[in-house]
Amino acid sequence: MDWKSLVVVSSVLVFSFLETIFPFFNLKSSFNQRIYPNLLLGIINVSTNSLTITFILHQIWQQKFWLGFLYWVKSPWLAVTISFLIIDLYMYMWHRLMHSLLLTWQFHQVHHTEISMNTSTAYRFHTVEVILSNIPKLFLIWLLGIKPSYLLFYEITLAIELIFHHSNLALPWKLDKLLSYIIVTPNIHRLHHSQSFPDTQSNYASILTIWDKLFHSYSYPKYPEKIRLGLIEYNNHLNIINLIFLPLIKH
Ligand SMILES: [Zn+2]
Ligand SMILES: [Zn+2]
Repeated sequence: MDWKSLVVVSSVLVFSFLETIFPFFNLKSSFNQRIYPNLLLGIINVSTNSLTITFILHQIWQQKFWLGFLYWVKSPWLAVTISFLIIDLYMYMWHRLMHSLLLTWQFHQVHHTEISMNTSTAYRFHTVEVILSNIPKLFLIWLLGIKPSYLLFYEITLAIELIFHHSNLALPWKLDKLLSYIIVTPNIHRLHHSQSFPDTQSNYASILTIWDKLFHSYSYPKYPEKIRLGLIEYNNHLNIINLIFLPLIKH
């Protein structure tokens, strides 16, 4: 097992354990209903990524098409920080775009159909969204000359952060609030998954909350325990087949 997989599996186990011992909400769906669709989507997405994106990335790095200024940045710490900030900003913009266009929303809404948000929700993405999101990202990597180790550092941090902020863990309010000055916390992301439409138009960040603050989409929930999660009109679309075809089912 490689490094990244080990970190991801450990994070899933740790946060699944913690959210079971200290749950924030009493989850409405059964364990099987919650886990299987997300797990299967995760397997499909990881397999699709390995066959396409990973192959293209290897081609980019083998050709050493270093065009961007990062190739000329001599300090690795500075280069890794710049890469991290640029990819995280891209992730913010991509997520905001997903909510802005009707076409992209068709795919992203799969993520928002979760009524019992938990660690496995971190993997509940439509495969088309996952593939599409990687196209501008690959271009960015090629254009800036982001090296494999810089990307790996971001990807591992993102994997842990996604599992953390989707978890149903009842983090002490003060700690959640304190962490939210820097990173996306469960309370911050719960608001984004709210049934209320205006609430979903906030907190688009993946790791750093600075992007939401800079672009005026930051909102810390006053009463996080009152948030109702998930798009209720899609509650009957919880199985894997319906989730894959949800963008076609529509209204
Ligand atoms: Zn969203
Ligand atoms: Zn989410």
